[in-house]
Amino acid sequence: MRLILLGPPGAGKGTQAQRLVERHGIVQLSTGEMLRAAVKAGTPVGRKAEAIMARGDLVPDEVVVAIVSDRIDQPDARRGFILDGFPRTVPQAEALERILAEKGLRLDGVIELKVDEGALVKRLESRIAEMTARGESVRADDNPEALKTRLGVYRKQTAPLIDYYGKKGTLKSVDGMASVGQVAEAIGFALTPKIGARGG
Ligand code: ADP
Repeated sequence: MRLILLGPPGAGKGTQAQRLVERHGIVQLSTGEMLRAAVKAGTPVGRKAEAIMARGDLVPDEVVVAIVSDRIDQPDARRGFILDGFPRTVPQAEALERILAEKGLRLDGVIELKVDEGALVKRLESRIAEMTARGESVRADDNPEALKTRLGVYRKQTAPLIDYYGKKGTLKSVDGMASVGQVAEAIGFALTPKIGARGG
């Protein structure tokens, strides 16, 4: 199974991706995590991305597209994957289409997590508090200023993908305001082929 999880920062993409990993035995490909690992390791990509990420802006399309294309070729992604945080722009979505076509792969669906913006800020605040309580270091972009930028970038550059995938007929929207378990259930339902469904 090959899926895209779409939604604003704090929508719960990572949490739901984890559940899907366990349930379907596929891998989670989080471009944010891959980039944070590159920053930590001090690779050329990491050095390029660090300041951009800290302020909440997007890393250039060609950088993330190359990372994703390589990652999809790894043996553990052969059974399927969940793209979490990619694509984030229409050019990235177009590049993904080309990459998958070249590799002879196709997407099974795009899941949108719909969440109120007000709730996102509250979720982020509790994530910071929980991480601090556990003694973990907080992400460089988990601060009010960068969050504002991340939300603005989402609205302007990523939200158009909802329309993009809607027109292709691959989009399935799920209420991301429900509990973690309920959201997971709704995703499972959205991914179940509708036996006997007509016209759609
Ligand atoms: P969130 O969804 O919580 O904002 P992510 O972990 O997905 O966080 O991404 C963190 C940061 O990594 C983004 O703000 C951006 O700078 C960079 N990034 C991640 N994925 C992409 C992408 N597909 N294109 C460009 N930049 C990306």
